[in-house]
Amino acid sequence: MTIKELRKRFISGELTPLEYMEELLETIRQKERKINAFTHLEKTDTLLKEAELWTEKYKSGEELPPLAGIPVAIKDNIAVKDMPLTCASKILQEFTSPYDATAVRKLKEAGAIIIGKTNLDEFAMGSTTEFSIFGPTHNPVDLERVPGGSSGGSAASVAAGMVPVALGSDTGGSVRQPASFTDTVGIKPSYGMVSRYGLVAFASSLDQIGVLAKNVEDASLIIRVIAGKDKYDATSRELSVKNIFDAFETIDGVKIGVWKELDNHPAEDGVMKVWDDAIMKASKEFQMIPVSLPDIASGIASYYLIAPAEASANLARYDGVRYAWRVLDASTYKEMVKRTRTIGFGKEVKRRIMIGTFALSAGYQDAFYKKAVAMRYRIMQNFEEAFKQVDVILVPTSPKLPWKIGQKMSPSEVYKADLYTIPVNLAGLPAVSIPAGYVDNLPVGIQVIGKYGEDEKVWAVADKLMGLWR
Ligand code: GLN
Repeated sequence: MTIKELRKRFISGELTPLEYMEELLETIRQKERKINAFTHLEKTDTLLKEAELWTEKYKSGEELPPLAGIPVAIKDNIAVKDMPLTCASKILQEFTSPYDATAVRKLKEAGAIIIGKTNLDEFAMGSTTEFSIFGPTHNPVDLERVPGGSSGGSAASVAAGMVPVALGSDTGGSVRQPASFTDTVGIKPSYGMVSRYGLVAFASSLDQIGVLAKNVEDASLIIRVIAGKDKYDATSRELSVKNIFDAFETIDGVKIGVWKELDNHPAEDGVMKVWDDAIMKASKEFQMIPVSLPDIASGIASYYLIAPAEASANLARYDGVRYAWRVLDASTYKEMVKRTRTIGFGKEVKRRIMIGTFALSAGYQDAFYKKAVAMRYRIMQNFEEAFKQVDVILVPTSPKLPWKIGQKMSPSEVYKADLYTIPVNLAGLPAVSIPAGYVDNLPVGIQVIGKYGEDEKVWAVADKLMGLWR
């Protein structure tokens, strides 16, 4: 059932928010032990009470806000008042948020019920949701495999039917790649469309809140609710979206670009097979035009300097003084800070802080950071050129199928798997990952990428393509 269908039933009384919540809680009871999607669940009593309240209000026949009684899960790097905000890190393990992120506030104002917080790679740095103080999340499609990351908990909670929609965050692919791995839809909006206020900063020039859902309609509807300029995030903007329940725009005559250089940077065989089939099917309905994006494969090198550089600055605030947990037996301030950070941060986070600090240090800025930024501009230009010929561009979401939990991979091998998602963040563009098919019982996603601010068009095309590929 889509959110629209749920709402219709809530209004007609065919299903009540209370009954729906009970169903979801039952699914969670059955599956959560094996999947580990959540870092925190709201108390059952509270959830049932909230659902009952909405049930009463629907009965009274009054006009209700668009998401009245719809449960939503929130990635645990986004602030929900009075819930833990851990980023799956030891350093924040005792921290409870005193306020709501703007996106969460808007969801609540729209009547959504916040069901809990979902697992992630520590501080959203990773691609597997294995590197969390709460342990790994398992992929509902195949429990021995990773759900992708870093929004793996959000993706798994949706894929397992524990919740209809979940918020994630996407700095280099963390909404789209888990969507691809779990056979769900992941939307990454244009940079600035959704306020970052209350999203724990990782790499501020790249971070954007996104949504995971079972279909494009639900995911886009949530973005429409949370989008908009916000005085608490100076980079946020009013980008045009339709009213929440409006249909997608018509896409007659839309031109779809297909990334020409993919053959030079191919995905693994299974992914390529699904990709080829999908392009074939799409070309029966749409005008497909090969487009060149010659430099986007250099995005990885650029991103893995820019993101750590920004992270090293953003994570300086975890000093043991301001956010709850610290080592207690240090004899000096300096020792306390040092040991808190040494013990409090995991290996990958420390690796990023060290890379970033190094890249920004005097004498190295020109050699590393500035080159990375120059490459970022070139990637933006690649897209600008390509979008002169087409409306949207297709690229696979991940070069790899979901791999096994615990599989040995070097950091650079994992980084390279971000090949297709990272350029989108560097250029600030909107993109959606949609299910494109299966190979060896594993799902494959394809991204629809659009021009800055043309999110609605991207969703409309993605919705149509998903229909074709199902
Ligand atoms: N895998 C990427 C990284 O580790 C993406 C993370 C993200 O989008 N939050 O940085």
